Amino acid sequence: MTEKQIVVLGAGYAGLTAATRAGRHHRVTLIAPEARFLHRIRQHETAAGHPEHRPALAELVRGRGVHHVRARATALDPTARKVFLDTGEALPYDTLVYALGSRTAWHGVPGAAEHAYPAERAAELSERLRTGVPGTVAVVGGGATGIELAAELAEAHPGWRVRIVAAGQVGGWFSAKGRGHVLRVLERLGVDVHEQSAVTGVDPEGLTTGRGRIPADVVAWAAAMDPHPLAAEAGLAVAADGRAIVDGHLRSVSHPEVYVIGDAAEVTVPGTGTLRMGCATAQPMGRYLGRVLAGRTDRPFAYRYAVQCLSLGRRDGLLQLIHGDDSMRPTVFTGPVGRLAKAAIVGGVVSALR
Ligand SMILES: Cc1cc2nc3c(=O)[nH]c(=O)nc-3n(C[C@H](O)[C@H](O)[C@H](O)COP(=O)(O)OP(=O)(O)OC[C@H]3O[C@@H](n4cnc5c(N)ncnc54)[C@H](O)[C@@H]3O)c2cc1C
Repeated sequence: MTEKQIVVLGAGYAGLTAATRAGRHHRVTLIAPEARFLHRIRQHETAAGHPEHRPALAELVRGRGVHHVRARATALDPTARKVFLDTGEALPYDTLVYALGSRTAWHGVPGAAEHAYPAERAAELSERLRTGVPGTVAVVGGGATGIELAAELAEAHPGWRVRIVAAGQVGGWFSAKGRGHVLRVLERLGVDVHEQSAVTGVDPEGLTTGRGRIPADVVAWAAAMDPHPLAAEAGLAVAADGRAIVDGHLRSVSHPEVYVIGDAAEVTVPGTGTLRMGCATAQPMGRYLGRVLAGRTDRPFAYRYAVQCLSLGRRDGLLQLIHGDDSMRPTVFTGPVGRLAKAAIVGGVVSALR
């Protein structure tokens, strides 16, 4: 155990994974406001009213040499090497791991933040659907999160009419077989699919889109994610989308004593490309950084994609095989096999946090 002060900001898939590994060798202080793990990849299940599976952070860090401080970072001074917390404390560090993740992006769409439920308010959405008079719920976003949410809501709430609204195609990046399966399942679950319908406004009666009005009593927003703004505010070099630009060892290119991992980082891996935000990329970054901080490797971060996996309600799913550079292979596994594969991945994520 060294006296070096390592501070990890954020206890998501990236930050917690790095902290539990580095804590075996250094004093690690982990800053995050929540008492229970923020298991974001299950938030669509919460929205549909399924029980939450969020282990206590105290249990996940037990015996790992990690001191969890329940607080929010409000500012960062990389020159003085200090993090400021909402408790009023200023925390010095030798090495900072910045893993503040991302949050729902509203894209400046008028009315969206006021009238739509983001994933962060999944429990409120669940309550609204459970207690409200059934009507129409529109899910905005044709990406993985929107598809999973629409399928989950339609299956759990057959009394509600579910619509999915996408600026482009729903699941348009999957192979033809993969997208075909997604559309078939949505049809079976009674979901109305609105494609090429970019949303330009949200109000209490529904959505305004490039193709006209889509009425909705409730709107769920699953359009995109923005990285946490603190890195840009602190003067770290950031890309156009706000992610901090890092080198091959995941160090900020402007402040090398700050490692940035997970959704907060713009990571480009030779041969793979610029990684997309995802638990699938965040957790490997946390694992890698844990090894770096433990002095076990000085190699650059390497990453190749292998699969993409969706839950489509509780009984169906999609396992899409992909090439290392994230392009699609033609092979997919669907139905209960896809569903079980997704459940195994989600379970494996929690085991790997410890
Ligand atoms: C419904 C849903 C389903 C998803 N499904 C998948 C999927 O199947 N596969 C996949 O690859 N990705 C999926 N994602 C994306 C995935 O959840 C994110 O990419 C992932 O959570 C990023 O991990 P992270 O550790 O970088 O950050 P996060 O998980 O966002 O964690 C950020 C951490 O920082 C903390 N924090 C935030 N602000 C502060 C602050 N000011 N001070 C201190 N701490 C702070 C948070 O409390 C949290 O502990 C899904 C996302 C959603 C919303």
